[in-house]
This record gives sequence, C-alpha cells and structure tokens, in this order.
Amino acid sequence: MYLDTGEKQECFGCEACVQVCEKDAVRMLEDEEGFRYPVIDTDRCIGCGLCRHVCPYGNTMQNTVQKYVWGGYHLDPGVRFDSTSGGAFSAIAETFCDENYAVFGAEAKGLLVFHSYITDIREVHRFQKSKYSQSNIGHSYRQCKEFLKEGKKVLFSGTPCQIAGLKKYLGNCDQERLLTVEVICEGVPSPLYMQKYECHLKKKYGCGIDAIDYRYTGKSLFASGRWDFEAEKTDISERRDETGRREQGDVQYADKRVRKKTIKRDRWVNPFWSIWLDHLMSRPSCYQCQFTTTDRAADITLGDLWGVHLYCPELYGRNGGASLVVCNTENGKDLFKKASKMMYGHELNLEEALKYQGPMYKHISENPMRGEFMHDLEGAMDYQSLNKKWAKRPTIRLLISKYIWGNRQKVAWWNIRNPKKKGSGA
Ligand SMILES: Cc1cc2nc3c(=O)[nH]c(=O)nc-3n(C[C@H](O)[C@H](O)[C@H](O)COP(=O)(O)OP(=O)(O)OC[C@H]3O[C@@H](n4cnc5c(N)ncnc54)[C@H](O)[C@@H]3O)c2cc1C
Ligand code: SF4
Ligand code: SF4
Ligand code: SF4
Repeated sequence: MYLDTGEKQECFGCEACVQVCEKDAVRMLEDEEGFRYPVIDTDRCIGCGLCRHVCPYGNTMQNTVQKYVWGGYHLDPGVRFDSTSGGAFSAIAETFCDENYAVFGAEAKGLLVFHSYITDIREVHRFQKSKYSQSNIGHSYRQCKEFLKEGKKVLFSGTPCQIAGLKKYLGNCDQERLLTVEVICEGVPSPLYMQKYECHLKKKYGCGIDAIDYRYTGKSLFASGRWDFEAEKTDISERRDETGRREQGDVQYADKRVRKKTIKRDRWVNPFWSIWLDHLMSRPSCYQCQFTTTDRAADITLGDLWGVHLYCPELYGRNGGASLVVCNTENGKDLFKKASKMMYGHELNLEEALKYQGPMYKHISENPMRGEFMHDLEGAMDYQSLNKKWAKRPTIRLLISKYIWGNRQKVAWWNIRNPKKKGSGA
C-alpha cells in the first residue's frame, strides 16, 4: 500500500488514513501533477498502524445480492435539467430524507471541489451535477460517524473509492442507518488543467472562474437541450473601469464595474474532454482502479444511461438526460423502489447495460504519452499551446454523426416506426 511503498497508483486519495489518525499526523499534500497524497508527520506519529488498517487499497468488494438494474429519468424536467444524468440522485435523496437525516455529497466553489453535508433536503442542489475533479473529503467521514452515533440517518454519496474509504473508516460502527450512493467512475483528471484554463481566462478577462457546469444542457450554439453531447458552461465576473476598460493580468482598477459573463463550449470542440478521455491526465490509481467491477462499493450505483438510443430508446425522452441505477444491496433496492415513483423508467437487463458501461467492468488504460503530456501541463506551456498540441479536433464524420444524423434523430425515427412503444417524451 502507498503508505509503505510510496507507489502512487496504490493511493486513491480517499483520505481515510487522514481522518482515522487521532494524532492528526497525516496530511494530504499536492504533488507536482496536482493530485493529493497523504504524508505522515513522523514527530507526531505514535506508530499505532490505524492509517494502514483503514486503507481500502487491496480490499475487494463483495455484493452477493442479486442486482436490481433500472433506467429512466426524473418526472420533474427542472430536476432533470439541474442534474447530470436523469436526476436519480435527487429522487433517492428526497425519498431518503424524512426525519433526522444528513446527506453528504460533493460541492463546488469555483474550481474547488469538496465534500460537505446538508440537513435540509431543500439544499440538495449543492450536490447536483458532476464535478469532474476529485473532491476533498475534509472531515466528512468523522462527521458521518458522529451523526450515525447520534442516531441520525445518513446518505453518503461520492466516488467508489470514497465510499470504500468511508466504509473502512467506519469499521464496526453501526451502519444500519447508513445508505451509500456512488457514481460510476472512470477516473478523475489532474486539477492543473482547469487551473491553466483559469489562468488563461484571468489573462484574457482579468478574472477567475465563479462556477463551472461541465455538462450544461441549456441553450448553446449547437448542443441546446441535448444531454448526450452537452456544452460546458463557465461563469466569470469581468471587472471593468467606468470607461469600459477591462482589468487584465496584474492591472487593477479602483473603480470596478463587475459584469457577469458566460462562456459556453460545445462538447465536441472542448479540448478538456478530448484530453481527459484520451486518458492523458487521470490520477495514477484510476489506471488500475479496483472498483471498476460489478462488485460495487455502495448500496446504489448511478451513471448515465449510455446506449439508451440503442437498447431502450423509449427512455430517451427528448434527450434531456437519463440515469442508469444499479442497486447492489437489499437496502439500496428498497429505497430505490420507493424513489423510482418520482421517475419514469423501467427495469433493465444488467448484461445489456454493461455493454455501454466500460467502468463497470474494466479500468481505463494509461495513455503511453501521459508522461510527456503531464510534463507540458506542469511546465510553462500556456493553455492554448497545450490544447493545440494535445487535443484532437473532431472529424467531419464525427460532427455529422453528432449534429446531423445522431442519436436524437435515430430515436425520432424509431418513435415514428414504433408509435405504441414511444417514451413519455417529458
Ligand atoms: C468524476 C466522475 C466521473 C464519472 N464518470 C462516469 C462514467 O464514466 N460513466 C457514467 O455513466 N457516469 C459517470 N459519472 C456519473 C455521472 O456523471 C452522474 O454523476 C451520475 O449519473 C449521477 O447523476 P444524477 O443525474 O443522478 O444526479 P446528479 O445530481 O448529477 O448527481 C450528483 C451526484 O454526484 C456526486 N458527485 C458530483 N461530483 C462528484 C465528485 N467530484 N466526486 C464525488 N461525487 C461527486 C454528488 O455527490 C451527487 O451524489 C461520473 C461522475 C463523476 C463525479
Ligand atoms: S500510525 Fe497511527 S499515529 Fe501514526 S500516522 Fe498512522 S494513524 Fe497516525
Ligand atoms: S487510506 Fe486512502 S488516501 Fe490513505 S493511503 Fe489509502 S488510498 Fe491513499
Ligand atoms: S477511477 Fe477508481 S480510483 Fe479513480 S477516482 Fe474513480 S473510483 Fe477512485
């Protein structure tokens, strides 16, 4: 394990070792790639071994229960719009939260992603939407344990390695009132890339990122309302002086006029997706992830219903987003069966769903050029040069297949030919 070997692929960054140490001798520090790893302060350490004991590395998951697999989307179009896939997470959270509860999830402020909790379901929007960056767990596991001891019900959501870290951390603590939800995860990218993007925006507009929505389905140039190739939406606040001059770089004006600005980039021309999905900048542990298996860490696994246009087009619902839900335990099944009343959809066959869900059975492979890419990312190469060198431009064929005769058109054609099986179209 990482704490003994120092091998980076053996550390998921789940932070269980940090939270278990009663001497506060473990801290997470960023390496040159921007990923965080635990470092032990030998002056404080008393050698109790707890940090090694809670590490989930090498611990395989075991779910012996027959899975319940489901596909569909939230009946409220607003919830669906505010979610990444079909809004299953919100339906689950709302069903779970009756009385004396807490919900944990990943929240974002600008580029910073961190875990926090809510005790009022009306704040669930804080956790909606995928933030494609590893979240800092902070004190969430400790807080979760305290809540469980106080008799609160807890819903904890995160990546599979975070759920595994939580479970190892909780150990013998009574987990009857705990429900865990994980996202299907094919890795987390180096935060340095988005930091470089922010530097680029600062130079150009004089301001950093207020908020980023990686998968926005609202109005954009081509992708409007389309979940399977959404846009990225970045909100910034430009500062100008009274004559309209924009602050740039180090230039600061005393009399500032803040003007909100939004930048949208369609999925197929956004260099972030090309570089990340080429597996050039994922965390080393993601290239050997032990959680990319059908034996899942959490009670419920959530993902995008990829392949929906091919094997269950009736769930496409005007391309507003659809969820794949895999219940791995009896608790997960019971809760989700109640939650699914807020959704439109039906049970699916696991084997069929797996055909379109690589991260459910295999981890990503490291791109052999990763070292060279990371060298450019860590170095002085600016954002535009980096993209020019590393991001692939979409081919004409791809653009035609996405924008002219894509999934949406294929489903529309299927609906014409199968009017009786047509989805609700919500
Ligand atoms: C890093 C990452 C990689 C993913 N990769 C895939 C994939 O390869 N294939 C696939 O089908 N789905 C993937 N997903 C899951 C997918 O994007 C949706 O998050 C999921 O389907 C839930 O969507 P929803 O509509 O139900 O709810 P939403 O409201 O969109 O879900 C929000 C949920 O995601 C959690 N979450 C958001 N960001 C993070 C984060 N950074 N770390 C931990 N938890 C987070 C929140 O805590 C909450 O539980 C990934 C998600 C993340 C965060
Ligand atoms: S061995 Fe014990 S005291 Fe030392 S870092 Fe690990 S948990 Fe902390
Ligand atoms: S407990 Fe988590 S953060 Fe600590 S070494 Fe193990 S995988 Fe890494
Ligand atoms: S791919 Fe695996 S190791 Fe990487 S963030 Fe996801 S669950 Fe954790």
